[in-house]
Amino acid sequence: MNILVINCGSSSLKFQLIDSESEKLIAKGLCERIAIEGSRLVYTPAGGEKQITEAPMRDHKEAVSLVLKALTDEKTGVVKSLDEIGAVGHRLVHGGEHFSKATLITEEVKKAIQDCCELAPLHNPANLIGIEACEALMPGTPMVGVFDTAFHQTMPEEAYMYAIPYRYYQDYKIRRYGFHGTSHAYVSKRAAAVLGQPVESLKTIVCHLGNGASVSAVKYGKCIDTSMGLTPLEGLVMGTRSGDIDPAIIEFIAHKEGKSIDEIMNILNKESGVYGLSNGFSSDFRDLEDAYLEGNEDAARALKAFSQRVIKYIGAYVAEMDGADAICFTAGLGENSPIIRDMVCASLSYLGITLDEEANHKRGEEIIISRPGSGTKVLVIPTNEELAIARETAEIVKS
Ligand code: ADP
Repeated sequence: MNILVINCGSSSLKFQLIDSESEKLIAKGLCERIAIEGSRLVYTPAGGEKQITEAPMRDHKEAVSLVLKALTDEKTGVVKSLDEIGAVGHRLVHGGEHFSKATLITEEVKKAIQDCCELAPLHNPANLIGIEACEALMPGTPMVGVFDTAFHQTMPEEAYMYAIPYRYYQDYKIRRYGFHGTSHAYVSKRAAAVLGQPVESLKTIVCHLGNGASVSAVKYGKCIDTSMGLTPLEGLVMGTRSGDIDPAIIEFIAHKEGKSIDEIMNILNKESGVYGLSNGFSSDFRDLEDAYLEGNEDAARALKAFSQRVIKYIGAYVAEMDGADAICFTAGLGENSPIIRDMVCASLSYLGITLDEEANHKRGEEIIISRPGSGTKVLVIPTNEELAIARETAEIVKS
């Protein structure tokens, strides 16, 4: 069955068409600058040339319409008609406590996603718009929602509760949810496959290190803790997000600089992380690594603090799980940066880890990068959230 995977942001829409049986990518692309001057569709059929179409897209419905037109185009399309698309899998950011797994989208489910808008004001409204645009243009095609938060719903209460008055949980559901769940689930399963062991027998730490970054502790296939919280701001140092800070800093800056809460939240989300630590040098890890290798102190400060937090979380999760069989690196930085993996693993000799330098410099494959005989194995597993969404969607539609 062909599954259209949609990842809808406020002004962008990424898509992939995947054959769920062969798990092959059929086409992929993205609509940029939806409802903004200069909108365009980038479309690439598998094995074909990338095509860029500049076209006005006043809203997400027009964007989806252009995507469907491209997929069914006589010359460059990949399917004859929309009937060849069996289902749509939507990447959804926040499912609150409603969803611990992927689900068929119904009116009731949409209402629950709407209820979670308060928890993810930048993402959930855009996700809902994407669902409604697809529903309007593909009536009768099943839609499935796959939530970033779902995999983390197995966290025990002691891991997900904040130590603030309990009524805030009761009244507003303020708790830790975690994100990147589809990636953490996919990578922990793939790691088990690479190690040739059932996921139910392994204690795995997944380091999803991209612009947004999070770590999770996956014990016997279930997430028991993760570094992001109520929002994706908690946890590791990220590209521009601060990660964990003393909450009193907010009050301190507010008083010092007469800033509002909104202004400070903007600073913590957009001007902090390695960008802030490097004194505004860059939020891109490639730039930072190049500068670090040339002796730039701002870049060194940022990368060292970034790695220190990863090391700290790994230590915490080893303790929480009473050991770890595997540590996995994934996402843009985790998959592509031997430097960061080196910096992190240099502090993990207590787990019996030594890196195989040659393996650590390979790219684009699932690979064990620790030396044979290492106590805890270290792996690089390229994440594939779209494939994971296609798999879950196909499973729901078939059942
Ligand atoms: P997100 O999906 O959160 O935007 P990604 O998983 O795409 O993030 O990761 C993006 C980050 O990965 C960028 O900061 C980028 O610099 C980093 N990255 C990508 N390739 C490399 C590389 N070869 N070396 C170091 N960092 C890289």
